[in-house]
Amino acid sequence: MSYPEISRRITEACLRHGRSPGTVRLIAVSKVQPEDRVRAVLREGHRLFGENYVQEAAAKWPAFRAEFGAVEVHMIGPLQTNKAKAAVELFDAIHTVDRPSLAEKLARLAQARGTSPQLFLQVNTGEEPQKAGVLPGDLDAFVAEVRRMDLSPQGLMCIPPEGEDPAPHFAALAGMAARNGLSGLSMGMSSDFEAAIAHGATHVRVGSAIFGARSYA
Ligand SMILES: *Cc1c(COP(=O)(O)O)cnc(C)c1O
Repeated sequence: MSYPEISRRITEACLRHGRSPGTVRLIAVSKVQPEDRVRAVLREGHRLFGENYVQEAAAKWPAFRAEFGAVEVHMIGPLQTNKAKAAVELFDAIHTVDRPSLAEKLARLAQARGTSPQLFLQVNTGEEPQKAGVLPGDLDAFVAEVRRMDLSPQGLMCIPPEGEDPAPHFAALAGMAARNGLSGLSMGMSSDFEAAIAHGATHVRVGSAIFGARSYA
């Protein structure tokens, strides 16, 4: 597959579901991808990327930004509190705020810097023990807590359990966002971004369908 084809499929999914194509943003997930594949998508004009690791992103994006101008980069991987400072300096959004200690650190940084990246709160919709994210039953309290820290979360993010129909998870996340007055929905990956768009995704995170399979060798 390719970047133009994924863009086209996003537009078509929007039209199929009565949504304006401008309401869904494509995050091209470039983690672990060879530089030439990332550069090719930059050359095609795309300017929004997702990364999972602070160190990898810090090694990659300053040079690409120098070469291509402004590029939005979103953190979509788990964030250790001790890397929060580097993260807010590098990323335009953090999709993985999943605990009060991290939110507190981000709030302190926001106060010191006078600005904050966009923040998404990650929800463990499948209640999987090994997965990050607040449990659905704890989400409303977490949103309130984060707001008391003077942070304004943009929306919610989820990664549905592998091998399950993702649709109920997307629907559940949309319901949680709506009842908390949050407009952003970061959901949908290579295998299910069209279903996510059907359920209201505002940010889809697509990696391998754009860049090809990741090799961790
Ligand atoms: C790697 C990753 C993606 C992209 O996955 P693909 O299946 O390659 O599209 C999306 N979201 C998160 C959180 C990821 O870690």
